[in-house]
Amino acid sequence: MTPSIPSNSNPDQARPWHTLEVEKTLELLSSDAESGLTTVEAQERLQQYGPNELQETAGRSSWEILLDQFKNIMLLMLILVALISGILDLVDLRSGKLAAGEIPFKDTIAILLIVVLNGILGYLQESRAEKALAALKKLSSPKVRIIRDGRQVEVEGKTLVPGDIMLVEAGVQISADGRLIEEANLQIRESALTGEAQAVNKQASVHLSDETSLGDRINLVFQGTEVVQGRGKVIVTGTGMKTELGKIADMLQSVESEDTPLQQRMTQLGNVLVSGSLVLVAIVIVGGMIQSRFSSGRWDWGVLQDLVEVSLSMAVAVVPEGLPAVITVTLALGTQRMVRRHALIRKLPAVETLGSVTTICSDKTGTLTQNKMVVQRVETGSQSFRVAGEGYIPTGEFYLGDQQVAVEQYPDLQTLMLGCVLCNDAMLQHEKDQWTILGDPTEGALIVLAGKGGVDKEPVLRQMPRVREFPFSSERKRMSVICRAGDKGQANSQSPYLMFTKGSPELILERCTHIQMGDKKEPLRDEQRTQILEQNNQMASVGLRVLGFSYKPMDNVPPEGSEETEEQKLVWLGLVGMLDAPRPEVRDAVAKCKQAGIRAMMITGDHQLTAQAIAQDLGIAQVGDRVLTGQQLQKFSPEELDQQVDDVNIYARVAPEHKLRIVQSLQRRGRFVAMTGDGVNDAPALKQADIGIAMGITGTDVSKEASDMVLLDDNFATIVAATEEGRTVYSNIRRFIKYILGSNIGEVLTIAAAPLLGLGGVPLSPLQILWMNLVTDGLPALALAVEPAEPDVMRRPPMNPRESIFARGLGSYMIRIGIIFAIISIALMVVAYRYFPDDWKTMVFTTLCLAQMGHALAVRSNTRLTIELNPFSNPYLLWAVTLTTALQLLLLYVPFLQDFFGTTPLTLQELGICLGFSSLMFVWVELEKLFIRWYKSRQ
Ligand code: ADP
Ligand code: MG
Repeated sequence: MTPSIPSNSNPDQARPWHTLEVEKTLELLSSDAESGLTTVEAQERLQQYGPNELQETAGRSSWEILLDQFKNIMLLMLILVALISGILDLVDLRSGKLAAGEIPFKDTIAILLIVVLNGILGYLQESRAEKALAALKKLSSPKVRIIRDGRQVEVEGKTLVPGDIMLVEAGVQISADGRLIEEANLQIRESALTGEAQAVNKQASVHLSDETSLGDRINLVFQGTEVVQGRGKVIVTGTGMKTELGKIADMLQSVESEDTPLQQRMTQLGNVLVSGSLVLVAIVIVGGMIQSRFSSGRWDWGVLQDLVEVSLSMAVAVVPEGLPAVITVTLALGTQRMVRRHALIRKLPAVETLGSVTTICSDKTGTLTQNKMVVQRVETGSQSFRVAGEGYIPTGEFYLGDQQVAVEQYPDLQTLMLGCVLCNDAMLQHEKDQWTILGDPTEGALIVLAGKGGVDKEPVLRQMPRVREFPFSSERKRMSVICRAGDKGQANSQSPYLMFTKGSPELILERCTHIQMGDKKEPLRDEQRTQILEQNNQMASVGLRVLGFSYKPMDNVPPEGSEETEEQKLVWLGLVGMLDAPRPEVRDAVAKCKQAGIRAMMITGDHQLTAQAIAQDLGIAQVGDRVLTGQQLQKFSPEELDQQVDDVNIYARVAPEHKLRIVQSLQRRGRFVAMTGDGVNDAPALKQADIGIAMGITGTDVSKEASDMVLLDDNFATIVAATEEGRTVYSNIRRFIKYILGSNIGEVLTIAAAPLLGLGGVPLSPLQILWMNLVTDGLPALALAVEPAEPDVMRRPPMNPRESIFARGLGSYMIRIGIIFAIISIALMVVAYRYFPDDWKTMVFTTLCLAQMGHALAVRSNTRLTIELNPFSNPYLLWAVTLTTALQLLLLYVPFLQDFFGTTPLTLQELGICLGFSSLMFVWVELEKLFIRWYKSRQ
C-alpha cells in the first residue's frame, strides 16, 4: 500500500508522509529518533530549506491602508472646502478683484496639501502601528523543545528544519509539520487548519492510505495547531511555506488592527463636528444675508461671497485635523512604555482600557510567588524528614530532627524518591555553573530533591523506562506514569510494572488503600489518613505547596484512557512540602492596588490553606477571610455565586472552568476584570475577561494567543504597573482633547462673530486655521501626550469603562473654555479693528496662537497651579511652546511667509496687546483651579 518513493530523497517535495512508517520517515529524512540532528546538519539544512517562517501575505495591503485614510468624513469635508475655495478664486480672477501680489488658489492648494499630508501621515502611522504590533507578537512567539546533538534544547521556532525531532505537550502551538514517532494521550485541536473545533486523537503507530484526508491523518501533526492534551515526539517533515498551513497562508488571520474604543468614539465625534459645523454654516449664511438685506434693502451677492468665505474658514476650524495623529502616537508610546515595564500589549485597545480595571484575578504560582520551588519537608508513613540545601543545586542533606540521615536506610523514602524522578516531565540542567530547570518548576524541585537523596534521574529512567502515562491537567490535579519495574525489584515488587501517581494530597489519599511503612506495605488505617491530612494542613498553613505520592505494582500495561479505573487501590508513599516564596515586590503592588481602588484576588489550583497563607502574607486577604474552593463553587448557581463573589478574595483548588465562571460573575456585578492564566484550558477565561493576561515565561502558546497582554516576567507587580500606565495614557488623552477641542470651539465662535458684529472680511483664512490646528495646537498636544503620570494616578478610583470621554466635566470644560477663548479673542478683535485697522486680522491670528500656548502650560494639571508644578518634569512642553511661538513670529516677519499666510508684520505695541489679551487665557485657567480649590475646601 505504500506508494513508490522517489529515489532521490528530497524532503521538500511534498511526500505522503501519513502513508509511511516511522522508520521509513526517519530514514528518508536521515535523522535519529533518540539523538536528533547535529548542530552542523541542522545549519546545513537551514541553508537548504530556509527559515521556518510563513510569508505574511495577509493583512491590509498598503493601498488599502492608504485608501482607508480618505474615508474619514473630516478629510472629505476639507476636500470640499478646497474645491469651493478654488471656485471663489476663479470668480475673483475673472472679475479681477484678486488683490495684487496674492497667489491664486493658494488656500485650495494648501488645503489639498494638508489633506494629502494628513492621509500620508495617517498611513505611515497605521502601517507602523501594524508592524509594531506584529513585531510585539513575534516577541511572544513560541519556543520549541527539540532534540539536537542527543540533548534536549529549546530553540526558536523559525530555526526548525526537516529532520528535527520535536517534543510537543499540552499547551503548545505546533511550529512545523511532522510525523509522530511516539505519543501519549495526544489530542490536538486543528481548527486553524480544518475548521473542526473538536480535538483529534493522534496515533503514532498507524500508517494510512494515500487518500486519507487532512483531518484524518492521525499520525501527522500540523503547524499552527494546538496540543490540548498529552505529549508527543515528532519528526519534522515540513517547515515554512512547505507546511499545510503555508499552503493556505493567504487565508491566515492577519494581525488585526482593531480600533480602540477611543478611536471609535473619535470617529463618531468627527461626524458630530462635521454636521454641527454644517448647521453653523447655514445659520451664518442665512443670518448674514437676511441682515444685509435689512440694512441695505437688497440682496447683495458680494456679501454672499464674504459669507461663504467665512463659512469655509469655520468648516476648517471645527475639524481637529491634528487629533487623530496625536491619539495614535499616544497609544503607540503607551505600548512602548508598557513593554519597558515588561507588559507586552497584544491588542491595542488594552492600552486605554487597562486604566479601567477594577479587579485583578491572579494565579498564585509564579505570578504572586517566585516559582522557584524548594522542597523543605518530606513526610513518609513512618518519618518526618527535613531537607536542607540551596536553590536548584541537587546536593544537600536529609535530617530527622537534628540528626543527618542517609536516604538508603529508609526504603519508603527511597521509593518516594523514585516516584519523584519517574513521575516527572521536567529536566534539570547544568550550564555555566548554573542549575536551571526545563519544564514545570514544581517537578524540577522534585528532581532536585531526589538529587539531594542521591537518586539521579538519567540512570533510573534507563532502568525503568516509561511505558504509559496519564498526564497532569489542572482539572485532574494529578498525574501517573507506568514504568518497567527494573531489575532491582523496586519497592519490593515482584510485578513487571510499577505505576507512580502524584498530585493533590487529598485526591491521592482518597485513592489509596495501603501505606508503605519502611519496606512493608500495610493496609491504610483511618487514623493514619487523619494524621496525613493533618500533616498536609499543617504544611499548607505555613504556605508550603504540598504534593502527595503513591505507587502501585502492575502486571501489565493498562490501555490509554483508563486512568479512572487504574488510579485506584494505590499505596501511599508520603507528602512532599515545597516552599515557593512570595515575590517581594508583590506586597507593595497589592498595597498600591488598594489605594487605587483595585481589588486583587487570588485564584489557584493549590490547597486552600497554602493559598490563604500566601494571600495573607501579601495582603490580599486578612486573617479569618473566607476561601471558596472549586468544589463549593461547583454547587453554586450563577446567582449564588454573584452574591459571594464580591466578598471572597481567595479561590482555591479551582479548575480552569471555574475561572470562567468567576470572571462572568464579576462582570455581571459590573466589574472590569483583568485575569491571568497560563494553561490551555485557561483560554476561554482569558477571552472572557476584559483584559486577558498570559504568562510570558510559563504560559502556554494557546493562552498567549487568547490574551490581550503578556507578562514578560510573569509578575503580578507588572499588571499593576501596566494599569498605572493605562491610567496615565487615558488621562493624557483627555487632557489634550480638552486642549485641542476647546481651541477649535473658540476659533469657530470668533470667526462667526466677525460678520455678525458687522466687521468686514474674514478674520482668519483657512490656511491660517490649518496652521493653528496642525502646528500650534498639534505640537503642544503631542507634548501633553507624554506628560508624566500625576502623582495621584494610583490614588484615585478606576474610571468607569463605559463612561464617555467627555464625562467628568470634560465636555463642559471644552465648551466653557471655548467660550472664554472666543470672548478674549472677540474682545481683541473689536479693539484691533477699531485702532489697528491694517493689522487686525493678524492680531486675531496671533492672539489665538499665543492664548493656546498659555492654555497648554496651564492644562498640565487639573488641580495644581502651574507655579506649583516642576516646569522641567515635561521638557517637551517647554520645547513645544518655545518652538511654536518662534514659528508664529517667523510667520509674521519673514516676507515670503507673510505672503503665503497673508499676515502683516505687527509693531511691538500690537504684539504687546496680543500678548496681554492672550495671557488672560492662562490666568483664567489658573483662576478656575483656585476657585475649585476654594469651593472644595468650603464643603
Ligand atoms: P496553581 O498553578 O494555581 O498552583 P495548578 O493547577 O498548577 O495550580 O496545580 C493545582 C494542584 O495540582 C497543585 O496544588 C498540586 O497539588 C497539583 N499539581 C501541580 N503540578 C503538578 C504536577 N506536575 N504533577 C502532579 N500534580 C501537580
Ligand atoms: Mg500551575
